[in-house]
Amino acid sequence: RQAQYAALRTRPSVTKDGVHVDLNLNAGLLVDLPHIAETGAAGIGLFRTELQFMIASAFPRISEQLKLYRAVLDAAGDRPVTFRTLDIGGDKVLPYMRTVEEENPALGWRAIRLGLDRPGLLRSQMRALLRAGAGRELRVMFPMVAAVEEFDRARALVERELTHLRRHGHGLPDRVYVGAMVEVPSLLFQLDEILSRADFLSVGSNDLVQFLYAADRANVRVADRFDPLSPPALRAFRVVAEAGIRHGKPVTLCGELASRPLEAVALAALGYRSLSVSPAAMGPVKAMLLETDVSAARKVLLPLLEDRTGAADPRAVLTKFARDC
Ligand code: PEP
Ligand code: MG
Repeated sequence: RQAQYAALRTRPSVTKDGVHVDLNLNAGLLVDLPHIAETGAAGIGLFRTELQFMIASAFPRISEQLKLYRAVLDAAGDRPVTFRTLDIGGDKVLPYMRTVEEENPALGWRAIRLGLDRPGLLRSQMRALLRAGAGRELRVMFPMVAAVEEFDRARALVERELTHLRRHGHGLPDRVYVGAMVEVPSLLFQLDEILSRADFLSVGSNDLVQFLYAADRANVRVADRFDPLSPPALRAFRVVAEAGIRHGKPVTLCGELASRPLEAVALAALGYRSLSVSPAAMGPVKAMLLETDVSAARKVLLPLLEDRTGAADPRAVLTKFARDC
């Protein structure tokens, strides 16, 4: 199996019926970088910048952040890298950062909320990212955006940092793409608003499913209770993909879901043309997509999402579909 997957490294990720589905990598530390070449990934679809902060014993200086971001961009070469700004709070605590105890940390002061309330932290990170991206393209996205106004404020902060760096004579990125993660359900009902502002979207299905079903992703009693291949979750993923197509803006899905072959087939059938997966999943997901006829998968999947009996079982149907093809 491993040898078979390794042989796929240079194979383009194109389905049986000629649909390109870019397979990117999820990463967060220097040790992840060799996986780009090993797996033949199209790029890094999610770089979790908080990991550097979580393994440090104090806030990493701008120079340390800059060093990491440059190393990531150098390792990726021509392949695009999407940096997610600090996603701390919730389950991701920094031992050296003073926080208040929260009753519901997943719903609490975290990610972009914390970033906007402590703009010094977000601004210094933006400064490091923009400097690392000098002379190249830079892609940055914000986690846990729940309201478009948060995105506007975060984007304004990027513009302010660009102005600051320009004034101080620093080299700037050739182009900065600014995106939002779709992981809070409120954004599902503001897709046109967010897509008229953001350059791209990336679905964080781990959190989106957690919030959609109100089931704590870290609680073993409930984490796997609801199937992300169920109609409600699939409908949620579908509206994001279709809104992206309508607005002509790229949409990726970077949650763990994309790392499972059957789920990746479902996402391709819903319209996703870019996924971001864990290094170990690259081979199995690519092998599956190469064998998949996406338009046939679409034909079996989409009617199930119109079904209103409550009896539709997309997982069973897709499992049979995959077995038969
Ligand atoms: C997600 O929520 O799906 C996601 C990719 O972000 P994280 O798992 O880091 O919260
Ligand atoms: Mg998340």
